[in-house]
Amino acid sequence: MSTLTTMTLSPRATDFIDDAHLEGLLSASRPDPAHVRQIIDKSLAKEPLLVEEAAVLLTADEPELVEEIFQAARELKRRVYGHRIVLFAPLYVGSHCVNDCVYCAFRRSNGTAIRRTLSLDELRGQVEALERVGHKRLILVFGEHPQYDADRIAEYVRAVYGVKVGHGEIRRVNINAAPLDHEGYRRVKEAGIGTYQIFMETYHHATYAATHPAGTRKADYLYRLDGVSRAMEAGCDDVGIGALFGLHDWRFEVLGLVAHARHLQERHGVGPHTISFPRLRPAAGVRLDDRWRVSDRDFKRLVAILRLSVPYTGLILTARERPHLRREVMAFGVSQIDAGSRIEIGGYTEAGDAQVMGREQFLLGDIRGLDEVVRELLSDGYIPSWCTSCYRLGRTGEHFMEFAIPGFIQRFCTPNALMTLMEYLTDYASAPTRAAGEALIAEELAHLPEGLHKAELVRRLERIRRGGERDLRF
Ligand code: SAM
Ligand code: SF4
Repeated sequence: MSTLTTMTLSPRATDFIDDAHLEGLLSASRPDPAHVRQIIDKSLAKEPLLVEEAAVLLTADEPELVEEIFQAARELKRRVYGHRIVLFAPLYVGSHCVNDCVYCAFRRSNGTAIRRTLSLDELRGQVEALERVGHKRLILVFGEHPQYDADRIAEYVRAVYGVKVGHGEIRRVNINAAPLDHEGYRRVKEAGIGTYQIFMETYHHATYAATHPAGTRKADYLYRLDGVSRAMEAGCDDVGIGALFGLHDWRFEVLGLVAHARHLQERHGVGPHTISFPRLRPAAGVRLDDRWRVSDRDFKRLVAILRLSVPYTGLILTARERPHLRREVMAFGVSQIDAGSRIEIGGYTEAGDAQVMGREQFLLGDIRGLDEVVRELLSDGYIPSWCTSCYRLGRTGEHFMEFAIPGFIQRFCTPNALMTLMEYLTDYASAPTRAAGEALIAEELAHLPEGLHKAELVRRLERIRRGGERDLRF
């Protein structure tokens, strides 16, 4: 029978978020521009920033300095990540929930929510629909409920990997679900998950208490804060953290994320694999005051400052945001986006063209199809990528050397991204997207240095295009 996991903390769990300290940093007067520029230089040298340094960037709000921060974020993204953007899709599995988070349509007191959990067969149907349009990476999303215990999550993960349609397959399944105990993480790890994501929602203690009613499981701040540390201790070395922007001062949440990333690095020798920064969206039955609403300008600042603070951590920009803003913010250091997303349970086959508010957790800002998003990325000069090589070759966590090895991106990441792009163009793209993609691949090849490695890449691209081979990787 399914039960909720025990709420045992990691033996070394500590609450490392000191609200008074963070608030003190943010109440400092405007910094000296020379100091801001020094910090920008440190980050351009790819050194992670201290919380205190991130706070200096957050208090620099003169237009000229903000523009310099934007410029530096663009530059750092180019240096560290090149211009690849990894694509994935969210797959909502179940909307039952024992918690009562005030911002979420799945909260238990929302009597109007349509509660549903996909059966394994229904899940397979959703995965088939996603594979048919070209997705290779998914994140499974769950409410918190005894139905979704670790064994059940593991069962869903295995079911996803088992679905193959034509050349389609899912090569990486990530999870966004409630925190587990050590044993729970071990079970889901055995099923072959990629990243385990847990968003702290808000790092501010009083706001956390006000938005997660006492008596619910999620009300336990430390249990949640410690959630990704337990995951790491149990062997899930790819973890994702995040904050839900709009519950409290956005600058405080950025400091919380930076403090969390540093804590993981210090304690486990490896920081988070990704950071997410969802902005609060309208949701069924949710009415929140907009005191802490984050403007588009501040949203851009927060992405840019996160990029500069944690140079090696992937940043995920979701379809909660509207298309034009996504396009703009992408340049500030985003490394992953979702595309073609639907978040109604069963939405990939049942929802039609419009969103159904009563059936989803919140309203999305961008429901364009994958092909359209891919074409836009190509026209902006990005390489859309579905690469899963590092994770599948065991290059994860502390072994994840992507950025430490000089030339790694040129030798591995760019060729692997181009091969996954070629698969997409050959199997799924519309004619205009295919033409744009072929042109981009030709341009990328022209920039690669001549030699055996390039010759091998050209051969492999042909094996994909004409030979029908798939899943080749360096
Ligand atoms: N139930 C699990 C949990 O709370 O950890 C899984 C996550 S929930 C299904 C996915 C995430 O969506 C939450 O962590 C929260 O940050 C975000 N979310 C919830 N309500 C939202 C809203 N109204 N607008 C935008 N994001 C929201
Ligand atoms: Fe449940 Fe997660 Fe929504 Fe909170 S955010 S009500 S835990 S689904």
